[in-house]
Amino acid sequence: MSRLTFAAAAALLAACLPTAAAAQRGPQPVTVVRAGNLFDSEAGRMVGPRDILIRGDRVAEIGQGLAAPEGATVIDLSRCSVLPGLIDAHTHLLLEQRGREGLSEVAARDQAAQGDVYRVLTGARRGRQYLEAGFTTVRDLGNSGGYLDLMLERGVNDGLVQGPRIYGSGPGLAPAGGQLEPMPADPHHLVDAEYRIVSSPDDARAAVREAVARGADVIKMYPEATPQRTRLSVAEMAAIVSEARRHGVPVAAHATSDESIREAVEAGVSSIEHAYEVSDETLRLMASKGVWLTPTDPSLEMALEFTLAWPQRPPREEVERHLQAGRDRLMRAHRLGVPIALGSDLYFPYGPGRGAGSRATLDGYVEAGLTPTEALQSATWEAGRLLGDDGLGVLRARAWADLVAVEGDPTQGLAPLRSPRLVMKGGRIEAGEASACAG
Ligand SMILES: [Zn+2]
Repeated sequence: MSRLTFAAAAALLAACLPTAAAAQRGPQPVTVVRAGNLFDSEAGRMVGPRDILIRGDRVAEIGQGLAAPEGATVIDLSRCSVLPGLIDAHTHLLLEQRGREGLSEVAARDQAAQGDVYRVLTGARRGRQYLEAGFTTVRDLGNSGGYLDLMLERGVNDGLVQGPRIYGSGPGLAPAGGQLEPMPADPHHLVDAEYRIVSSPDDARAAVREAVARGADVIKMYPEATPQRTRLSVAEMAAIVSEARRHGVPVAAHATSDESIREAVEAGVSSIEHAYEVSDETLRLMASKGVWLTPTDPSLEMALEFTLAWPQRPPREEVERHLQAGRDRLMRAHRLGVPIALGSDLYFPYGPGRGAGSRATLDGYVEAGLTPTEALQSATWEAGRLLGDDGLGVLRARAWADLVAVEGDPTQGLAPLRSPRLVMKGGRIEAGEASACAG
């Protein structure tokens, strides 16, 4: 991306500047949140009423009957349950595939018909949807043009736009062709704008350093890249993981076949995305190495909505049968002790919006057989550990002051997540009303 394009994008982002952004400066605000019930994401249970003292963007203390310091803002959420801000560990803020478009058509639309500025603005709107649904952090894994995810991350961090915390990868490291359909014409301008094609172990190390130099928070690696038949070599994967490790950056691997998953796990990745065809043997290896599974499966309701765009809608039973294979592998992984982190991988149009799609993905996990509590942990405690920040996905002293308030008890069923009453990120109200759950 040229400097000129960056400047144009920044100017446009500034034009939709929320006025609250400037309020961050000045003395550190102090807030006391009085929660009617608090979700302990590590223990996986509701612990009853708790007060949360927030100084600036961090939790200072959690206790019962905490006195409000002088000048503190008190937010009464005594009629609500409070959870850590939710985390979607696999999304694509900068990608939308419509109807039966191929990824090459999407790339052509993004690059030619709309361009980077339009694409970042669209991503900013999706980021806002995440916040409104209670998701205060997302991990963005590729298909984001030339580091537009990291540009959006900076825009959010600088207060230019409201959005979740973004952990971005920049372009995914992929074998020849990326994930675009095989084409006899040379489509390098489309491929290279979306992926970093790796051609040798040395090149793989260089690709990791490029991403780190641009500010990537995570490396996205494609051991295989369906619909392409190309694959990364074992030596390239080992080079990617060891170079990322030298720079303290985790690696997320897109892998669907059992062989690719095993190779990526042996290379030392942090998480396997999708893993549709994983065997029990490979799941045991993942469990022993503490590798997360990010099961990017939709709920039945989401899957049925996706089929609305198909020329011939399959019957509901066929959709359910298709989903069942994914549910089975999620529960096999869970039983074998593989940690599960929520990932929606939602890059299709979905009426209720992006964050709502992440919430609906949790419904899918419950349809598969996880308890509501386990599903909530995948979007809090487990996802926070995967992202490697012990202040994410938890509410305790020194954690980020990211929280979501809902009515009712979400460990008894996830329906309350459909309408969050208040969403706070870094100690600031980002959505909802402070008085929404006052007793
Ligand atoms: Zn994805």
